[in-house]
Amino acid sequence: MDRTLIILKPDSVQRGLIGNIITRFEQKGLKIAGMKLACISPAVAHEHYAMHKGKPFYDSLVTFMTSGPVVLLVLEGNNIIDVSRKMMGATFGFKAEPGTIRGDFGVSSAFNLIHGSDSPETAKAEVARFFKPDELLEFNRAMEPWIYDLSNGIAQ
Ligand code: UDP
Ligand code: MG
Repeated sequence: MDRTLIILKPDSVQRGLIGNIITRFEQKGLKIAGMKLACISPAVAHEHYAMHKGKPFYDSLVTFMTSGPVVLLVLEGNNIIDVSRKMMGATFGFKAEPGTIRGDFGVSSAFNLIHGSDSPETAKAEVARFFKPDELLEFNRAMEPWIYDLSNGIAQ
């Protein structure tokens, strides 16, 4: 199954939204394959957002991402990138649709609660940036046959 890297950014942690956001992913049926609380170093933040280097918001973005602990999550599921990006909503809360994480929990045009990988290639690199192979767990959830139809030998 596909995996993606999710970061609950420092504003999510400081505002006590960790549980709310993780609950949404759990209730959707997405599987947590890895999870930890950590501080992102400036060097890793620069690397993670390298594609935005030179843009006017780059320096403040790095400051934001290194301003406190974050929760790092690896989520697993079919079409995980589409599904998780849709749940996150548009980049900033003032624009994001109600019903999305950014749309329901934020209104800022700088702080935006959550990061999610935007393609399978990016996801692979981003998961490897934050997790060692042995920090990603393979296990079966008891509810798995009720999340996906497994009767044909594939998860549908
Ligand atoms: N960002 C910002 N100002 C902008 C655009 C982006 O501060 O005008 C930050 C914001 O934290 C965003 C991150 O840069 O989440 C990465 O931008 P991207 O366009 O990839 O948005 P995302 O994929 O997170 O929705
Ligand atoms: Mg992005």
